[in-house]
Amino acid sequence: MSGPILESLLTCPKCGFAKTETMPTNACQFFYECAQCRVVLRPNQGDCCVFCSFGSVNCPPIQEQKGCCR
Ligand SMILES: [Zn+2]
Repeated sequence: MSGPILESLLTCPKCGFAKTETMPTNACQFFYECAQCRVVLRPNQGDCCVFCSFGSVNCPPIQEQKGCCR
Protein backbone atom coordinates (compact mmCIF):
# COMPACT_ATOMS: atom_id res chain seq x y z
CA MET A 1 0.00 0.00 0.00
CA SER A 2 1.35 3.37 -0.91
CA GLY A 3 0.84 6.50 1.10
CA PRO A 4 -1.31 9.41 0.15
CA ILE A 5 -0.27 11.86 -2.51
CA LEU A 6 1.01 14.98 -0.83
CA GLU A 7 1.27 17.29 -3.79
CA SER A 8 -1.75 18.93 -5.27
CA LEU A 9 -2.13 21.32 -8.15
CA LEU A 10 -4.24 24.16 -6.81
CA THR A 11 -6.09 26.13 -9.45
CA CYS A 12 -7.42 29.57 -8.64
CA PRO A 13 -11.10 29.78 -9.68
CA LYS A 14 -10.79 33.51 -10.20
CA CYS A 15 -7.79 33.91 -12.46
CA GLY A 16 -6.98 30.34 -13.44
CA PHE A 17 -3.47 30.42 -12.05
CA ALA A 18 -2.30 26.97 -10.99
CA LYS A 19 0.48 26.12 -8.57
CA THR A 20 1.66 22.87 -7.07
CA GLU A 21 1.45 22.93 -3.30
CA THR A 22 2.45 20.37 -0.72
CA MET A 23 -0.39 19.39 1.58
CA PRO A 24 0.07 19.02 5.32
CA THR A 25 -0.86 15.53 6.50
CA ASN A 26 -1.94 16.53 9.98
CA ALA A 27 -3.87 19.71 9.46
CA CYS A 28 -6.41 21.27 7.19
CA GLN A 29 -5.59 24.23 5.09
CA PHE A 30 -8.63 26.42 5.16
CA PHE A 31 -7.28 29.55 3.54
CA TYR A 32 -5.10 29.88 0.52
CA GLU A 33 -3.93 33.06 -1.12
CA CYS A 34 -3.48 32.92 -4.86
CA ALA A 35 0.08 33.84 -5.78
CA GLN A 36 -1.09 35.70 -8.85
CA CYS A 37 -4.30 37.63 -8.13
CA ARG A 38 -4.05 37.54 -4.31
CA VAL A 39 -7.61 36.41 -3.83
CA VAL A 40 -8.01 34.41 -0.64
CA LEU A 41 -9.67 31.10 -1.39
CA ARG A 42 -11.85 29.26 1.07
CA PRO A 43 -13.26 25.77 0.69
CA ASN A 44 -16.57 25.23 -1.04
CA GLN A 45 -19.49 24.39 1.17
CA GLY A 46 -19.19 20.77 2.26
CA ASP A 47 -15.45 20.63 1.68
CA CYS A 48 -13.01 20.77 4.55
CA CYS A 49 -10.03 22.39 2.91
CA VAL A 50 -8.93 24.26 -0.15
CA PHE A 51 -7.30 21.17 -1.62
CA CYS A 52 -10.61 19.31 -1.72
CA SER A 53 -12.25 22.25 -3.45
CA PHE A 54 -9.58 23.55 -5.80
CA GLY A 55 -6.78 21.01 -5.88
CA SER A 56 -6.12 18.26 -8.38
CA VAL A 57 -5.89 15.79 -5.51
CA ASN A 58 -8.01 15.59 -2.40
CA CYS A 59 -6.34 16.05 0.96
CA PRO A 60 -4.54 13.08 2.57
CA PRO A 61 -7.28 12.14 5.09
CA ILE A 62 -9.82 11.96 2.26
CA GLN A 63 -7.46 9.83 0.19
CA GLU A 64 -7.18 7.43 3.10
CA GLN A 65 -10.98 7.49 3.48
CA LYS A 66 -10.84 8.80 7.00
CA GLY A 67 -13.07 11.68 6.13
CA CYS A 68 -11.67 15.11 6.12
CA CYS A 69 -9.44 16.62 8.64
CA ARG A 70 -11.91 17.92 11.17
ZN1 LIG B 1 -5.95 33.88 -8.67
